[in-house]
Amino acid sequence: MDKGLLIVISGPSGSGKGTICKRLLKQMKDISISVSATTRKPRVGEVEGVNYYFIDKKEFEKRIEQNKFLEYAKVYGNYYGTPKEKALEQIESGNDVILEIDIQGALQVKDNYPDGVFIFIMPPSLRELKNRIEGRGTDSKEVIAKRMESACEELNYAFQYDYVVLNDEVEAATDKIRHIISAEKNKAIRNKTLINRIKEV
Ligand code: ADP
Ligand code: 5GP
Repeated sequence: MDKGLLIVISGPSGSGKGTICKRLLKQMKDISISVSATTRKPRVGEVEGVNYYFIDKKEFEKRIEQNKFLEYAKVYGNYYGTPKEKALEQIESGNDVILEIDIQGALQVKDNYPDGVFIFIMPPSLRELKNRIEGRGTDSKEVIAKRMESACEELNYAFQYDYVVLNDEVEAATDKIRHIISAEKNKAIRNKTLINRIKEV
């Protein structure tokens, strides 16, 4: 069996990564999302082990020392990281895994795991991005200001990704990502097992 696909989805906060990933998971039964560890405090409604593994700074730094993260970054003052073992195990056993991570993390994965598929979610405009973050109602004024400041900077990194998907309309953006995943899975290079099996029959 060929390896599963590692799909990295990133983009500025509020660009719609979470919304799109939730839809993707509903529509694509054989794909999973990696649950990150973070030192950020849980928001109302967030569940341990579902949204994140919530750990303290000391524990996070211990895991960095132990090389337990595929990537990690400090985002808006908190650590976030992808637990390495589980994600790689799933990929090795042929399952596709999505990482919904920030741009610093995506660039690390690109260095360490260039086989990944890197998708940048682009908001229609900075004004709309601000409306969406405000509308989400999860962040204070200061946090929103910080996120908007970073967003301007982050847009410059879009060129480092394989694909840019405009999230104007959620359903259309989700469809585009499904098509990208489907095309990537059909690449000859990812189907050596299939090709060899057919030759044997
Ligand atoms: P991210 O995960 O990138 O930080 P979210 O998925 O939390 O972003 O989206 C931020 C807010 O914008 C949410 O309230 C979400 O419902 C809304 N949103 C996402 N995509 C769209 C869209 N295409 N049109 C309008 N609102 C959207
Ligand atoms: P939030 O606090 O809104 O849940 O996430 C803040 C930012 O951290 C988002 O851009 C999100 O994609 C990013 N993030 C979440 N998990 C990870 C992770 O494991 N690694 C990295 N590098 N970023 C992450």
